[in-house]
Amino acid sequence: MEKTTKRSNKATMSKTHENDSRLEEFFHDELKDIYWAEKHLVKTLPKMAKAATAQDLKTAITDHLEVTKGHVTRLEQVFESLNQKPQAKKCEAMEGITKEGESIIEDTEDGTSTRDVGIILACQKVEHYEIATYGGLAQLAKTLGYEDAAGILTKTLAEEKEADKGLTELAENTVNEQAHAE
Ligand code: FE
Ligand code: FE
Ligand code: ZN
Repeated sequence: MEKTTKRSNKATMSKTHENDSRLEEFFHDELKDIYWAEKHLVKTLPKMAKAATAQDLKTAITDHLEVTKGHVTRLEQVFESLNQKPQAKKCEAMEGITKEGESIIEDTEDGTSTRDVGIILACQKVEHYEIATYGGLAQLAKTLGYEDAAGILTKTLAEEKEADKGLTELAENTVNEQAHAE
């Protein structure tokens, strides 16, 4: 239905409006992508936590799992603020990053700090993908005049940055040295 309206209006649309709707569609598609990614992480992070050895790392991942569930809810609020039904579309990038995480686990020995180093690295790749996505989407929301959506996306962006920082600190303070000594 949406498509039909779009098509029939097209002739009367100014160039700017046409570009707007194209950009709008792009924005919605990207929201579906990160929505899939966050829901995928809710399933994947427990496996990462279970595979980790250092208690601090297990805790960091488990804490971020709870935060991630909040990101799913926030995205639902974003969809709602745009009068859209929350919809997920497979994010190839997140699937790839989490698959890489799984092979890191397979390639390292259980109970080693080396595996923990690998898990931190995999988790940081996840966080950086999210930081890039939320940073870009928050800016795009602003451009499109969706202030509420921009505010929500910015909150999540801050939490992804915090998670990334926490992982860097874990690597810095303990895990890397332990792996280096093992
Ligand atoms: Fe997230
Ligand atoms: Fe993606
Ligand atoms: Zn995250």
